[in-house]
Amino acid sequence: MKEKNSVINALPTTIFTTMSASARQHDAINLGQGIPADDGPAPLLQKAADFLIEGPNQYPPGDGLPDLRQAVAAANKRFYGLDVDWKTQVLVTSGATEALTDSLLALLNPGDEAILIEPYYDSYLPIIELAGATPRFVRLHAPDWSLFEEELRRACSSKTKLLMLNSPMNPTGKVFNAEELALIAGLAEEFDFYVICDEVYEHLVFDGQEHQPLMILPGMAERCVRVGSAGKTFSVTGWKVGYITGAAHLIEAIGKAHQFMTFTTPPNLQRAVAWGLEQDDDWFHDLAAPLENRRNLLSNGLADIGFTVMPCGGTYFVTTLIDNLGFEGDDLSFCQTITEQAGVAAIPLSPFYGADPARNLVRFCFSKTEDVLEEAIHRLGRFF
Ligand code: PMP
Ligand code: GLN
Repeated sequence: MKEKNSVINALPTTIFTTMSASARQHDAINLGQGIPADDGPAPLLQKAADFLIEGPNQYPPGDGLPDLRQAVAAANKRFYGLDVDWKTQVLVTSGATEALTDSLLALLNPGDEAILIEPYYDSYLPIIELAGATPRFVRLHAPDWSLFEEELRRACSSKTKLLMLNSPMNPTGKVFNAEELALIAGLAEEFDFYVICDEVYEHLVFDGQEHQPLMILPGMAERCVRVGSAGKTFSVTGWKVGYITGAAHLIEAIGKAHQFMTFTTPPNLQRAVAWGLEQDDDWFHDLAAPLENRRNLLSNGLADIGFTVMPCGGTYFVTTLIDNLGFEGDDLSFCQTITEQAGVAAIPLSPFYGADPARNLVRFCFSKTEDVLEEAIHRLGRFF
């Protein structure tokens, strides 16, 4: 029989699926895949239930319900001062994953180059390759996940069509600072490229910091595609409601990809998300505050055991260097071993690199109850 699609067939099963399956098999605490222990706020869940009965339950408009598009535009104004026309500059998608895929397919042509900052979120590369574009990798450096200007500049050329910027960043927990954002904005103008800004963790930022979309920098509103996710913002990761903000010409192109990807997104969930986005600032703050304590609990616990814990300014994740634990083997065997023998699952970082991956980095998820985190620390402490 003829060969199947070469990009898709060369893909391994994602590391999230692999580690979650292994956690189940070994009855381990799953600090791998980013699944929040607490479901989203009860009033939001109630709204979704009400809207399921009330409707709508039939195909909504392809670009999203006006309610939600207006709520996304209003949130852009409230949190970041961005002026967004909800009619032409907002698109609703079935999760950020779809938003990212639509955006890449709408912007890339064969022969283009796309810059990925390693360790990059795993859904980006396969779509870049499907589009026939070439990835250019720029690596962040441990132990503080720093970005070197010369290295980023070296990856830019006249062929660069876009850069993927994920801040707050998964898997690293890095929040890009103002200087780094200015650097990226400057290069985007100099080399005339777009930036797909994966900002699904925009509201999960700690230590009194504020998330800064690249889009608020001068000249960037025309070049940025800003992606958000209700799943992360409201701890309802299974809902798969995403939204994109961007210049009208970009949203128009991305909407064309969206019409043949999913066409629409469940309308009752869209209404509930619109309601959620309209709640006051305290609501958003209350969702992030417990995570900050949990980050501290897990980071301190891992450091006491001997992990080198890297800084984490946002997301659900803390990353660690595993060099000083006396373990012989790479990150993949480390994660398999602690899942089987310590009863705690985590995510190795090598699958988030292109060629020549780092093999001494492991990610732990802290969006779990404090009891569960304490038990995980206890188990790891006993094992090491
Ligand atoms: N981008 C990043 C960086 C993520 O961590 C996730 C969540 N796994 C997504 C995109 C996808 O979000 P969604 O669940 O809304 O598709
Ligand atoms: N984004 C989540 C994580 O990083 C889950 C990914 C997924 O389920 N595809 O753990």
